[in-house]
Amino acid sequence: MQEYDIVIIGQGPAGLSAAIYTARAGMKTLVLGCDPKVAGEYDIDNYFGFPEAISGKELIGRGAAQAGRFGAVLRCDQALAVHFGDDGAYIVKTASGEYRGRALVLATGVSRKKPGISNIDEYEGKGVSYCVSCDGFFFKGARVMVAGEGVFAANQALELKEYTPDVAICTLGKKPDIGPEYLRRLELAGIEIIEKKIESLRGEGRLEAARFDDGAIREVRGLFIALGDASSLDFAYSLGVITRGVFIETDTEQKTNVPGVFAAGDCTGRYLQISVAVGEGAVAARSAIAYVREARQGAP
Ligand SMILES: Cc1cc2nc3c(=O)[nH]c(=O)nc-3n(C[C@H](O)[C@H](O)[C@H](O)COP(=O)(O)OP(=O)(O)OC[C@H]3O[C@@H](n4cnc5c(N)ncnc54)[C@H](O)[C@@H]3O)c2cc1C
Repeated sequence: MQEYDIVIIGQGPAGLSAAIYTARAGMKTLVLGCDPKVAGEYDIDNYFGFPEAISGKELIGRGAAQAGRFGAVLRCDQALAVHFGDDGAYIVKTASGEYRGRALVLATGVSRKKPGISNIDEYEGKGVSYCVSCDGFFFKGARVMVAGEGVFAANQALELKEYTPDVAICTLGKKPDIGPEYLRRLELAGIEIIEKKIESLRGEGRLEAARFDDGAIREVRGLFIALGDASSLDFAYSLGVITRGVFIETDTEQKTNVPGVFAAGDCTGRYLQISVAVGEGAVAARSAIAYVREARQGAP
């Protein structure tokens, strides 16, 4: 497993800004993620220092080059899960490997997709969960399903196998976007992929079954939502980071309630602008650098 001082999840303005500061301070830095939304051909008209506007793509490209110049490692790789390591560090599992970081900066922007299941709100906390590492334990031996079409959902389903043998994935009517390696792992684990939409959920007081759009009913005690890519919010759930709706709660130093975990940019839900993301990234970096230095001093 590769080891870093600081692992930053997100290669948007917040993550890259943080990386410029951490790498420049001599911290071994890894930045995960690719193709941020802003990195299109959109003209950014209101970012300081570009009177003729600059495209999102060029701005991000410049930020990435700058972080790279100071030694940050930029990897176009998707984080799937984050866990506590046994030595106070954090383990980030990605689509292609695992990395250990002494500190973690969450900067994935905000993307909370809700599945279009009519009465899902009634069952949240009563069978519907957004976090396998928080709630999987409560479904030991039960029949469960993961809703999602990507590698994130596949990884959640595989993690659920630690608790119960009866796991399926429902892609909510989408084509699976899982890739051959994870498809093979799912097959080996005996995880069925159901390509139907879920119309509604059923159960007296707690989840007992899902009704698909073709009228079929599948009995399930647990439904884990894992749409698209994992977001900072998903990582926050599994680490016990305090959230505020779809956003991550931080103090003015971008610290979360969990030591060594920082958050910056749109995922903190302040003013969703590049200038703010860049500023929060710098502050998160300063806090993460101080945290790592302190941890080093305390190390035997
Ligand atoms: C079309 C559009 C136009 C905009 N125009 C402006 C503008 O003119 N001015 C302005 O100030 N703001 C603008 N914004 C808002 C601005 O883009 C955001 O405020 C800013 O990009 C937030 O930066 P961020 O780093 O927090 O998140 P993002 O830019 O969203 O970056 C998030 C990063 O996280 C990565 N990521 C997500 N999930 C994972 C995962 N599981 N593993 C690894 N990486 C992951 C993504 O790939 C991406 O690299 C615009 C936004 C859009 C969509």
